[in-house]
Amino acid sequence: MSAPHDMSVAELSAALQARQLSSVEVTRAFLERVTRHQADLNAFISITAEAALVEAAQADARLRAKDAGPLTGVPIAHKDIFCTRGEKTTCGSRMLANFVSPYDATVVERLRAAGVVMLGKTNMDEFAMGSSNETSFFGPVKNPWDVARVPGGSSGGSAAAVAARLTPAATATDTGGSIRQPAALCGVTGLKPTYGRVSRFGMVAFASSLDQGGLITRSAEDAALLLGAMAGFDERDSTSVELPVPDYNGVLGQPIKGLKIGVLKEFFDKGLDPEIEQHIRAALDLLRSQGAVIKDVSLPNLPLSVPTYYVVAPAECSSNLARFDGVRYGHRCDNPRDLLDLYQRSRGEGFGAEVKRRIMTGTYVLSAGYYDAFYLKAQRVRQLISNDFERAFHEVDVVIGPTTPTTAFELGAKTSDPVTMYLNDIYTIGANLAGLPAISLPCGLSHGLPTAMQIIGPHFGEERLLNVAHRYQLESDWHRRVPPGFA
Ligand code: GLN
Repeated sequence: MSAPHDMSVAELSAALQARQLSSVEVTRAFLERVTRHQADLNAFISITAEAALVEAAQADARLRAKDAGPLTGVPIAHKDIFCTRGEKTTCGSRMLANFVSPYDATVVERLRAAGVVMLGKTNMDEFAMGSSNETSFFGPVKNPWDVARVPGGSSGGSAAAVAARLTPAATATDTGGSIRQPAALCGVTGLKPTYGRVSRFGMVAFASSLDQGGLITRSAEDAALLLGAMAGFDERDSTSVELPVPDYNGVLGQPIKGLKIGVLKEFFDKGLDPEIEQHIRAALDLLRSQGAVIKDVSLPNLPLSVPTYYVVAPAECSSNLARFDGVRYGHRCDNPRDLLDLYQRSRGEGFGAEVKRRIMTGTYVLSAGYYDAFYLKAQRVRQLISNDFERAFHEVDVVIGPTTPTTAFELGAKTSDPVTMYLNDIYTIGANLAGLPAISLPCGLSHGLPTAMQIIGPHFGEERLLNVAHRYQLESDWHRRVPPGFA
């Protein structure tokens, strides 16, 4: 049998059920890797070894008593944006550096109930604002394929940890690409579900109309296994949708003969690395050989995604982050002179530069006199982008394009120019603005770095996305590649 870190969630689940491995053994093996690679990758903010071993022992007891589900005893890491009772939840910020939540996020609670073991909390851009993990108060994460390069962001810790086999899977969140873009740059699979599919309760809010929790895994099969346990209606999140959760794993493997795939014309633009394009075209050929019908589709308003997002997301974040005032949560400055001084210095010290930039932009676009010109206009364009997708899904079943314009870039390469950094998400933001599910999966290597494609589906089309991704992964092995040095 392979070593635990070589095994997928599906394989670990089978070995645990058959009692070939115990959860304590598996958990110890992953904790050893997490600890060993913390200095070189910085993928974690907290390593919760003690609690993990207690949970693993409990999982083993359930497995022995035959009171276990398919995920009982499987380890996972949570992005440090999900509240975890009794452990720190920092959101990558000095503001919350010592915050311990009194409750679990719904996602955490559901996975715990399924018997999943938490290894720790993964590093991330501060308040999930970034595309490179360089805005984290806890320092950048390194890309395991090349430690001089970024892992992407904001879920860079989750992506790097899965790629380096420090955990079989990790939770993540995606407001404008933060699951898919780091998954792409680290050569792993990243699923952003439909807005409303997974509860946002206990997930620190960035831009509430865009934020969605999801997963980073090695394969679509593993994502299907975990999504079923995470998803579903939650009365504590008023935007969660009351729809039954399908058996995502049950649908995997269905033939894709006759499936209509739209190739997103606007995404194959001059900004796209030609080698990434080649790899996606090869993946399309593979899907065509399985009977899929490929045609071009055009979404003319999609190129407006980035400017639209950088009005809507900062507007919502300026409102959401108002709660961090030095009184109720988080960092408080020393010896405030008066209330205003307390607010100003607590926020001034607690937030980093990118978060401040977003709060200021957001406050500006919402202010009287500018609201109509910026915020309202952005909301209208957002609707046009949604309409474009809706039209496309009358013609095709899914659309495919790149996840990112380039492979992983060097640490520091884009930190001095926010707009260049923002353009990393040019292909991912559309799905957030329209609330659609999307998955990124590895489809090649270019100069030793992973390349990726993105599949976007209609609302609540996760089954279809997972199935297409799984069909591709049955015929290819890019998702099995391990960064040199981490095998
Ligand atoms: N990179 C984008 C941003 O900086 C998206 C972040 C996210 O999805 N959380 O806002």
